[in-house]
Amino acid sequence: MSRGFNFSAGPAVLPEPVLRRAQAELLEWGGERASVMEVSHRGKAFIAVAEKAEADLRKLMGITDDYSVLFLQGGATTHFALLPMNLADAGQRADYIVTGAWSKKAVAEGKPHCAAQVIATRESTKFTDLPEASSYAIDPTSAFVHIAANETIHGVEFPDAIATGNVPLVADFSSSILSRPIDVSKYGVIYAGAQKNIGPSGLVVMVIRKDLLERAGQNRAKILSYKEHAAQGSMLNTPPTFSWYLAGLVFEWMLEQGGLATFEANNRRKAEALYSAIDNSGGFYKNPVSIGARSLMNVPFTLKDEALDAAFLKESEAAGLLSLKGHRDLGGMRASIYNALPFEAVATLVDFMGDFARRNG
Ligand SMILES: *Cc1c(COP(=O)(O)O)cnc(C)c1O
Repeated sequence: MSRGFNFSAGPAVLPEPVLRRAQAELLEWGGERASVMEVSHRGKAFIAVAEKAEADLRKLMGITDDYSVLFLQGGATTHFALLPMNLADAGQRADYIVTGAWSKKAVAEGKPHCAAQVIATRESTKFTDLPEASSYAIDPTSAFVHIAANETIHGVEFPDAIATGNVPLVADFSSSILSRPIDVSKYGVIYAGAQKNIGPSGLVVMVIRKDLLERAGQNRAKILSYKEHAAQGSMLNTPPTFSWYLAGLVFEWMLEQGGLATFEANNRRKAEALYSAIDNSGGFYKNPVSIGARSLMNVPFTLKDEALDAAFLKESEAAGLLSLKGHRDLGGMRASIYNALPFEAVATLVDFMGDFARRNG
C-alpha cells in the first residue's frame, strides 16, 4: 500500500516533506536526545521552535506588530464561545453573518455569552450564495461582526473581507487560512483550527489586534482570557507542543515554496480544473454554489443519480482517491483541495470523473 491522494475535509492532507521530516526527527530531535514531545515547553530548544513558528507565520501572512499571534487549544469550536467572552461585555450585542453550517454553529455557541444577532443569512437558498453586502445591518455598538471566511461543508467562500466600519471583523479561517494572501489589517481577529491547512487537530492559531486584548470582556478564568495567553506567549499552561512544532514545519515548507502567492496560484489552478470538470460534465456532476461564492478549498458536488454514489466512492477509493464522501448534511461528494494536495491529485480525480461519467452516463 502507498499513500493515496487525500481529499479529506479535516483532519486533512499534510505536506509529505513535512511528515517525512517529523518522522526522521521523531526519536531524537535536534540535540535533545529525546522527541520534541518529550521535552519541556519552557526549555530553550522548544522556545526557539515556538518563536520561529510565530515569526514564519508573520512573514507568510504579513502580520504587523499591531497584532498578537496566539497558539491555543480547543479547536475552532471552543473559540466560538471564548470570542464573545473576551470581546463582548455581558449582554452586549454581537453581529453574525451566517453563510453555512460553521457560521451557524458560531451563533449557537456564542449565544450564551452575548446578544448574538444574525444580520444576514442565505439559509433560504440552502447556503448556495452569499448575502448582498448592502444588506448587512451592522449595529455600530456591536462588539464584533463574525463571519466564516470559508464554509467547509457548503463550499462557500467570501472573496474578500467585508466592510464593517469601526466594528471589528472576526473571521473563522479554519479551512482557508494560508490558501492565498489576505489583507490582515481588515480584520480584528483571524482564527483557525489547524487541521485543514496548518497541522494536527486541537491546535488553534489566532491573529488578534492588540487593542482588542484590552477589552474587559466578561468575568472568566485566567485560562480563558486571550489577554493572559498573549502576556504569557501562549504558555499559560502546557501548550500542544507537537502540534506547534508541526505547524512550524508547515510554515517553513510554505516559505520555501515561495509563500502565499505560490499557494494561491496552485490553489486557483486546482479549483479551476475541478469546477470546470463539474460544469462541463453535461449535468452528470453538479456544484450548487453560485460562481462568485465558490470555495477555493472545498468543492461539494452531486452525481446526477444518487444511486451511483456508492459505486463512485468504491471505484474512486480503489483508484487511490481518498475521502470523497460528502458531508452527511449535503450527501453526494466533497473534494477538499487544501494547500498540501498536489495538482496531480486533482488531475487524477478529473480523469476519474470523466471516465466514470462516460461509463455511467
Ligand atoms: C473544521 C472547522 C471548524 C471546527 O473545528 P474544530 O477543531 O472541530 O472545533 C470550525 N470552523 C470551520 C470553518 C471549520 O472548517
